[in-house]
Amino acid sequence: DTLTDSFKNAIGKIRFHDDEKALKKATTELKKSLLKADVHHKVVKDLISSVEIETKKNGVGKDNFLKALQEKLTDILTIEGAPKGFTFSSKPPTVVLMIGLQGSGKTTTTGKLAYFLKEQKKKKVLVIAADLQRLAAVEQLRQITSQIDIDLVADENAKPEEIVKRGIEKAEKELYDVVLIDTAGRLAIDEELMDELARVKEVAQPDELFYVADAMTGQDAVRTAQTFKEKVGITGVILTKFDGDSKGGVALGLTQQVGVPLRFIGAGEKMPDLEQFIADRIVSRLMGAGDVESLAEKAAAAIDPKEAKRMTQKIKKGQFNFNDFLDQMEQMKKLGSMKSIMGMIPGMGNMAKQLGDMDLENSKEIKMIKAMVASMTPKERENPDLLTNMRKRRIAAGAGLDQVQVNRVLKQFKSAAKMAKKLSGKGGMKQMQDMMK
Ligand code: GDP
Ligand code: MG
Repeated sequence: DTLTDSFKNAIGKIRFHDDEKALKKATTELKKSLLKADVHHKVVKDLISSVEIETKKNGVGKDNFLKALQEKLTDILTIEGAPKGFTFSSKPPTVVLMIGLQGSGKTTTTGKLAYFLKEQKKKKVLVIAADLQRLAAVEQLRQITSQIDIDLVADENAKPEEIVKRGIEKAEKELYDVVLIDTAGRLAIDEELMDELARVKEVAQPDELFYVADAMTGQDAVRTAQTFKEKVGITGVILTKFDGDSKGGVALGLTQQVGVPLRFIGAGEKMPDLEQFIADRIVSRLMGAGDVESLAEKAAAAIDPKEAKRMTQKIKKGQFNFNDFLDQMEQMKKLGSMKSIMGMIPGMGNMAKQLGDMDLENSKEIKMIKAMVASMTPKERENPDLLTNMRKRRIAAGAGLDQVQVNRVLKQFKSAAKMAKKLSGKGGMKQMQDMMK
């Protein structure tokens, strides 16, 4: 019952004869699905009535209905003239304050945003650890930033506003493009937190205040966002945990209810799992048409085009070997979780669902392949055809596997290479999509 499923179900069920009774049926279906996905009833009511009016205006029929739906959805997700994604201040550094309740995903999202700015926008980013409520919080941020190679200013013994002051001075002196400040949260809103945030805000003079909201908390996310907006001020919302069990319906109402644009969406625990919130792209994804633009942007940042071309040539010639496989795994990691990648490809939403939270890097098969490759000689890595039974026995022993496992993995590897060869040809992508239907 996620938002995407609701749209898919509703749209899939719509059988249109070109009359108003059919339209009524379609809107009823859609309404039911949206309410189930946790969309606020007022948002549903407004959406449905404006879709009805627009469809009737253009002539009742499935095409006009879908077009109206697409338009009205884009409308409710958009605030006229509001910034989209990330905007840079004309006077660097751009200072961003990350605020929200405890556990909403502030620290993780600070890391994700730093990674996004570094990888996709090629910016120099400084992170400041201003959550000094819990010592573990600073350590968590230290781990995240070192993993993605981002500079951090932290001092467990300073006050939040002191460390922020130091960090901003460093950023100005050393010409950082962006400063991201991770702040403390509480389980619920309290005055002490609001006072602390006000002091930090005073020192930081932020260009942006991003409210980090947990999609799984449903309508509560809207209410707390409203309170933070009143007490501290916010310029954007980042909705986290849009993957997993969250129904996600809250995303549809947030923008209008809070009056502040959604700027990013977090859909996974890994660093690349952050998407810019661009209304028409999200709508396209919701309606099952995929979001090829976002995927292309991510791929462009993660994949070296020369390398990609070389790889395609190898795959076409059937020369894909174990070294290539490991290289590809490294590159895939930069694109984010398998599920979020699949969700962006038109027609592959279903596949994304089946994949669940499959973790490519840590799957049993991948671990087996990695262990096997580690036991191979350089020549064997280059040429899978070299693997005679004797060599396989040696590799199995070295990798701590039995020969049946080695044979199975090899067979899978070969059929995957064959499949890749097929797909790299003309119309390959379309073939794959047809297969998944
Ligand atoms: P903070 O207290 O606001 O700083 O929250 P954290 O950043 O420590 O995150 C709390 C938990 O939520 C951690 O276990 C994160 O891994 C997890 N988390 C954060 N963002 C996401 C997301 O987009 N998807 C999922 N599945 N988990 C997330
Ligand atoms: Mg935190």
